[in-house]
Amino acid sequence: MYRIILAIFIILGACQNKTAQKNADKPEELNNNEETTLLTDSIRVHTLQIGGENTDNHNFNASYPETFFEFINTNEKNIAEEFKEEFENEASKLSADATYKIHFGQHFELIANNPALMGFLFENYRSLGNTYDDIFETRYYDLKEKRPIAVIDFFKDSKAFDSFAKQIQAQAEIKIKDIIQNDANLSADDKKQVWNTLSEDFLTGTAASPKNYKAIVFSKEKTQVIFDKYQIATGSFGKIEVEIATDKIASLLKNDYLNIFGIPQAKIEEQIKEETVQEEVRTPKEYTVDSSKQPCIALTFDDGPSIYTDKLLDILKENDAKATFFVLGKSAKIQKKTILRMKNEGHQIGNHSWDHKDLKRVSIAELEHQIYDTNEVIRDITSEAPHIIRPPYGSFNQNVKDVSKMPIILWNLDPLDWKDRNADIVAERMKKAKANGIVLAHDIHKTTIDAIPEFIKWAKQKGIHLVTIDELFGDSKLENGKTYSSRK
Ligand code: ZN
Repeated sequence: MYRIILAIFIILGACQNKTAQKNADKPEELNNNEETTLLTDSIRVHTLQIGGENTDNHNFNASYPETFFEFINTNEKNIAEEFKEEFENEASKLSADATYKIHFGQHFELIANNPALMGFLFENYRSLGNTYDDIFETRYYDLKEKRPIAVIDFFKDSKAFDSFAKQIQAQAEIKIKDIIQNDANLSADDKKQVWNTLSEDFLTGTAASPKNYKAIVFSKEKTQVIFDKYQIATGSFGKIEVEIATDKIASLLKNDYLNIFGIPQAKIEEQIKEETVQEEVRTPKEYTVDSSKQPCIALTFDDGPSIYTDKLLDILKENDAKATFFVLGKSAKIQKKTILRMKNEGHQIGNHSWDHKDLKRVSIAELEHQIYDTNEVIRDITSEAPHIIRPPYGSFNQNVKDVSKMPIILWNLDPLDWKDRNADIVAERMKKAKANGIVLAHDIHKTTIDAIPEFIKWAKQKGIHLVTIDELFGDSKLENGKTYSSRK
């Protein structure tokens, strides 16, 4: 789209050459709101071109903005000239009879333009024979201080920037996993392999550093980060664009910039309360066990989180065991840190309704509240909504299937831990579990937590891995609206 806009700019630029001359005499500083429109009109496209329109030549076509502000023009011109030199240097290395030609280009979009700040998004491409590089970068300018704004300067401090990066990282992970999941050319095994292969590059490419976050487009509604091809995934994925609602990151930005981007203050105060939880989202490692080759059991805990859940998480962590927590929305909202620990320590979080209603007996509106609000709370804390549900009491009907649009996870072993509050009895019953099974338990009873070390010890002796629901089902995809009580 912006290529079309650009073309119009170029045509206008060519037609208005005389006006351009006049504008050059205007004062370079414009500080009040009335001038905003004029500023927009005043930006023109300067294009450097080598090689003409003929692709049989080495070709260079770089546009850069020309504004009322001399400090911007100088900076942009210098950058474009450096790019041109790089092109000329590469071209000079090739002999006249080389089998390929070099094409370099730059385009830009205006992404911020007001009396305080001007910003551009640049796309630079370099085609050298069979390599094709495409680089995105945003450059913002403070019009009052007359200087470029570094990415980090938008944030309150480096901690705020780290927190921003973590939120974007979580979104990027969802996006990439989605792309992998929807790739019809990949088998289930390939899909796991692809994520495993790229996860290290992903973590490096999304880590909090100005170099990784060089293309950020801020607006009142949403904030977008563009990661270059190869930066966080294999080249075939191309560039990866990640979006987040700006009110989710507003509390991390300096107040000056909030005003400039027109982000309302009221939402920021809400955010500050949640900030400590928000900034700790991490990406746990996945797919450590292949459930099709090794005996696995999925240990599941319902009705939490509770005062005992952190103790349970300690036990699981010491033993490198994973579990799935079917949590209640209302409790998740209170114990956010516990929920975040679950996610960060590699456990899975499922939906167990908002407050443990029998979902078969509620209205559609109530059903939507029970399911969607629970997902929303968990998404707010961990950046990821649950994609599995266990209805309270295992009670569901067609409405529950239709509204939840999630696989329904039941169990095939119930140790009746709610009935017999005795750790030894509960442990003995749990030890009847078989490979591929799903064990039901409740992390709201101290005796259940006390039974877990014995159960884990037993599983280890048997060579059984304790895994999440997703890991248990591994490559056999869970289908929405279907029920599962074990891996077949
Ligand atoms: Zn329950």
